[in-house]
Amino acid sequence: MAFGTTVSPTHHDLGGSVHPDLVALLELQQDDAEVASLESRRRDLDGQLQSLDREREAVSQTLEQSRAAVEAEQRKRHDLLAKVQAHRDLQERNVATLEMVKKAREATAAMAQVDIVRKALVQEESDLQGITARIKELEQVAERQELEVADTDERQQAARQQIEEARRALDEEMRQAQAKREQSAERVPKSVLVKYERIRLRSGAGALFPLRGAACGRCNTAIPLQRRNVIAAGRSIEVCEGCGVLLYAAS
Ligand SMILES: [Zn+2]
Repeated sequence: MAFGTTVSPTHHDLGGSVHPDLVALLELQQDDAEVASLESRRRDLDGQLQSLDREREAVSQTLEQSRAAVEAEQRKRHDLLAKVQAHRDLQERNVATLEMVKKAREATAAMAQVDIVRKALVQEESDLQGITARIKELEQVAERQELEVADTDERQQAARQQIEEARRALDEEMRQAQAKREQSAERVPKSVLVKYERIRLRSGAGALFPLRGAACGRCNTAIPLQRRNVIAAGRSIEVCEGCGVLLYAAS
């Protein structure tokens, strides 16, 4: 199967006859490979950055959890303090009542009231101590985690800077490689370019492969002698019937 138009071959520098579109296509393929390798390096850098982000995220998330726990305990403590204050006020009134009663029966009732509130206050104050101790503990944990976050930031700083510099350099390389690629693409006829792109996309590896002996260099399908001669003479660009890539004679 012939690919593109059949034209008179030009003589390649290396001595063999090469189809002129093939010369341009091989150059384009090389440029595409360069762009792909830069893209792969860019993905590597992005991956490195993401793993730094994940590491920091994990450390800062535990810190956030500790801070939330501190806040929850502080809210509990605030509510409990209000309750204690209310019971103290009540107790003051109870004691005043107790001091004023004259009858024994009333005194017993007032005493019982004082006793109930006293017990409640004892319990609440013990709870308050527990919460206060817990808050202190949690705050210490959060402080340690804050240091850990700061430590992580410090440790990551150099790595992030390196990645950022590498990315900037890579972006510049990428601009140049893409510009070179566009120039090479302009030297390939439109219809040939469309086919090249389609094959490249489908192949995932490249569109042009050299003959390896008497077979396709990609899928090893045997290429008949007559077509090999056409390729060698540079009369047309042949397509491998096994895998669909474009074939050229390795010089
Ligand atoms: Zn093939």
